[in-house]
Amino acid sequence: MRTMPNLDADVIIVGSGPGGCSAAHFLTKNGCRVLILEQKRLPRYKTCAGGVPDAGLALFPFSFDRVIEQKIHRFSCVCGRETVTMDVPDRTLSMVMRDRFDQYLLERSRAEVAEETRITGLSQDEHKVVATASDGRTFRARYLIGADGPNSRVAGVLGLRPDRRVHIALEAEATVPGDILRSFQGRILAGFDVLPAGYYWIFPKSDHLSVGIGSLRPGKYNLRQKLQDRMSSFGIDLSKSRTRAYPLPVFSRLEKVHSGRVLLVGDAAGLVDPYTGEGIRHAMFSGMTAAETILAGRIQNYTRRIQDEIARDLLWAKRLAGFFYARQHFSFHYLIRNRCIFQTMLKTITNQKSYKRAILSWPLYLFHLFNRQPFDLNNP
Ligand SMILES: Cc1cc2nc3c(=O)[nH]c(=O)nc-3n(C[C@H](O)[C@H](O)[C@H](O)COP(=O)(O)OP(=O)(O)OC[C@H]3O[C@@H](n4cnc5c(N)ncnc54)[C@H](O)[C@@H]3O)c2cc1C
Repeated sequence: MRTMPNLDADVIIVGSGPGGCSAAHFLTKNGCRVLILEQKRLPRYKTCAGGVPDAGLALFPFSFDRVIEQKIHRFSCVCGRETVTMDVPDRTLSMVMRDRFDQYLLERSRAEVAEETRITGLSQDEHKVVATASDGRTFRARYLIGADGPNSRVAGVLGLRPDRRVHIALEAEATVPGDILRSFQGRILAGFDVLPAGYYWIFPKSDHLSVGIGSLRPGKYNLRQKLQDRMSSFGIDLSKSRTRAYPLPVFSRLEKVHSGRVLLVGDAAGLVDPYTGEGIRHAMFSGMTAAETILAGRIQNYTRRIQDEIARDLLWAKRLAGFFYARQHFSFHYLIRNRCIFQTMLKTITNQKSYKRAILSWPLYLFHLFNRQPFDLNNP
């Protein structure tokens, strides 16, 4: 791509999360000059459980081993007082701390970075985009990618995603006694039946547990109290841990995610899975797609590609969430405990199967009533 002399970069990216860094990686790899503008000082903490499907990591030509805290081999699901624990195939799910993970991806993107630069304004014409920072500095490029998370300023200025709604999730990094830490070695836990839609989780890191709770439907649920109560039943004391709340822009409908020379990726594009609440994989994938469409000179196709390759399947995830969370006991006993269905569920988050294909295959498996995972008496 030829750089025009009065531009700061070929592409400006607002936000240095996985969406922005992924776009930067695929652009710089193909010779583009990229400038990332990030409002925070780096590396920055990101409120996130840090569960990354290996399918997201596999998009990149380098290893993430240095920033992986744990590989997951088992998945415990809790509903009320009942627990089942299933095996998770190797190389399916990894645990990361987002400050280290995002910084690693940023360094490998080889983009120029201006940290502590908050973008507040944006204008564009047929040749360029101009981004204005809160301190009055301006930055010019041929294209701009809005990777600025759930409350995207870029989307707001352009009038994209006007009806966006965000839900809330809480996260705490809990220091726990050694025996509790060991009992979660290589194992994640998700608990249902505490919210009308949503769940609580325990995700293991190398020296602590990331615990949290998230609602996938709007409402006032006193999440903090619910999280504390549930964690104390696992012997996890949150009284000394800081609990942070952060918006979760759960996908709700197909909508336009580009305008002129500007494209939205990740949370800014509202691509959080309405069934699981995961968003890192789609942030990475949409970042890669944004880079591809810019490199091909076809950004007019961007919204259609995001809809075809991510969003239409998230509509199936939304249907599943509607069914699952309205009948949590039934879903726990006949979907989660059913080994075949649980395995197809895992395939959806590892990109091996779409939600659509997985869901349409479930009626076959419902007849496997005797293939249910027994209750787990040892692992609460
Ligand atoms: C509690 C919680 C737990 C979660 N757990 C998981 C999980 O286990 N697995 C998973 O896949 N997903 C999880 N998610 C979702 C996941 O964190 C997001 O989907 C993911 O971070 C999206 O990446 P992104 O690059 O789009 O945005 P972000 O990671 O939010 O990055 C946006 C960046 O833009 C910067 N920025 C914002 N505004 C501006 C501005 N005006 N100017 C300059 N910079 C700006 C921000 O500082 C930030 O660095 C969780 C979310 C929450 C809230």
